[in-house]
Amino acid sequence: MHNLNICKIYMLHRVFPFENNKLFPNENMKITPEFLEKFIIDAKEKGYEFISMDELSQILKYKTTVSKKIVMTLDDGYKDNYTHAYPIFKKYNVPFLIYITTKFPDKKAILWWYNLEELVICNNEISLNNSSYFKCFSEEEKINTFMKIREIIMNLDQKNLYDELNNLFNLYSIDWYKYSKLLTLDWNEILELSNDSLCTIGGHTVNHFVLSKLNKDEIINEINLANKTITNFIKKDVKHFAYPFGDKNSCGKKEFDVVKELKLLTATTTISGHARHGENIYELRRLMLCEGNYIENTNS
Ligand SMILES: [Zn+2]
Repeated sequence: MHNLNICKIYMLHRVFPFENNKLFPNENMKITPEFLEKFIIDAKEKGYEFISMDELSQILKYKTTVSKKIVMTLDDGYKDNYTHAYPIFKKYNVPFLIYITTKFPDKKAILWWYNLEELVICNNEISLNNSSYFKCFSEEEKINTFMKIREIIMNLDQKNLYDELNNLFNLYSIDWYKYSKLLTLDWNEILELSNDSLCTIGGHTVNHFVLSKLNKDEIINEINLANKTITNFIKKDVKHFAYPFGDKNSCGKKEFDVVKELKLLTATTTISGHARHGENIYELRRLMLCEGNYIENTNS
């Protein structure tokens, strides 16, 4: 009977068909619309109820035994949340929460992982300004090269990312804002979503920096500025938050305490686990919904 005190918060990023010739590390951020639909139908058949994060926060506070509740969350603010996921949530009357990083709809986000994917797919070799050289002829080499360069980019100064990237990729001419224009939600779409009572808009900072690398004032700024910007557009308070990256290296007690001070209702990490009564509602765990781990997650 240990399942009696458990809610599941699922985490998604993109809902979009898989594309040929794209690379696994980026494709893995997607589930297909068909899969989302099947997931919802199966969960309902198994007796799960989909609820909003507002409802979950009340349940976690006041009810000691709850079971078979699911909250659906989507991170960052990809356009397909509106074009592909929203119609499915609407069809099945499923509440959902989108955590917005405001530079996404501001079209100022550098979605370098898509620029890098394009570069690796279109080239058989890549040379960087730090005199490193990578082969990317076969699919396997392309994925290896993608992962190695990804590691290099993750270690760049994130506050000067545009200049740092241009310097690192000085042999190539890359439009670093290309995928921001193509793949992220517009403010108008966010407003329309927010006007539907099924949808909650949450905060996910301005810049998606690793919060543990910032001082307390910088963390407060990143969260408050984003939430104010969102509130200006949707005319509703932002009450829920997700830590960027959300793993143990990106958020810990310091960050949890800051969010608690800001009097938000809940905050979620990307650490894998269930939500239980009595736990700190500023470090709620989530389950990543991807097509590979589906069976394992729904039966646990
Ligand atoms: Zn994120």
